[in-house]
Amino acid sequence: REILVDVKDVQKYFPLSKGWFKTKSYVRAVDNISFSINRGETFGLVGESGCGKSTTGRLINGLIKADNGEIFFDGKNLLGLPEKKWKKYRQKMQMVFQDPFASLSPRMRVKDIVMEPLTIHFPKMSSKEKLERVIELLGKCGIDEFHLNKFPHEFSGGQRQRISIARALILQPELIIADEAVSALDVSIQSQILNLMKDLQDEYKLTYLFISHDLSVVEHISDRVGVMYLGNLVEVAPKSKTFNDPKHPYTKSLLSSIPKPDPKLKRKKILLSGEIPSASNPPSGCKFHTRCPVVMDVCKKKVPQAVNLGEGHSVACHLY
Ligand code: SF4
Ligand code: MG
Repeated sequence: REILVDVKDVQKYFPLSKGWFKTKSYVRAVDNISFSINRGETFGLVGESGCGKSTTGRLINGLIKADNGEIFFDGKNLLGLPEKKWKKYRQKMQMVFQDPFASLSPRMRVKDIVMEPLTIHFPKMSSKEKLERVIELLGKCGIDEFHLNKFPHEFSGGQRQRISIARALILQPELIIADEAVSALDVSIQSQILNLMKDLQDEYKLTYLFISHDLSVVEHISDRVGVMYLGNLVEVAPKSKTFNDPKHPYTKSLLSSIPKPDPKLKRKKILLSGEIPSASNPPSGCKFHTRCPVVMDVCKKKVPQAVNLGEGHSVACHLY
């Protein structure tokens, strides 16, 4: 399969400050991660809040710059790309957030919200053509033409997310980075939006990076899944392996907390001891060793490297 996004040894530390002053400490938000996303697939990125998954999304679309490593998009190394060349790539990568309308003007009409990226990127496009595109795409996203002149507050949360998806698609991107895109919605609305995203993916050959703390959502939509813990990618696998044959003790503990429909298949609940350690002062060796139920001596000293288990399954743990 063809690789669309290739992330290689990427690191991002944020300096911590005390009041007005910088300290010598850093939040190790993303600590040397590597993975790739194939064209046309959905790559789910999961982990608890603060594990670095949102930072990873922002690094890929250039909202923030990596300290180290390489990020290839369609074969082109994006790091070190001059700012004026970024425009072309920003157009190809769009983001969908949890509640994008929180940051938009409540006085903008829906048609203008969806049209705005076209106006910015194609200043010469006629108003007629722009409006036609807006109407067609809103229709595909389940918002009738009848609603064009309404304002964001006149819609439900699910409808607003449909509108924000239309806005993200108006520039015909190749990659959509969805960051907790359905996390604020009721479960029944969540599955409607996930199904819409699947339909749009088929129709427009989209590639998704789907970031979520919610494993059931990730299970619903992903082809492959990456699990993050404290800035590290600890396991990457096809979805069926992640959910039926997880290898990393952290993945196992995350999975043990989601209910299975068939009680006979009930997973043994694994309770993790202790809090998530601070990303500015992470544990030595394997960062999960302070909470791992099967920790060994070596885990405290040596950082586990990713081991390829075959069939696209890799895990960073000294057990393997
Ligand atoms: Fe647990 Fe050691 Fe594996 Fe880390 S490397 S997950 S501490 S067994
Ligand atoms: Mg986040």
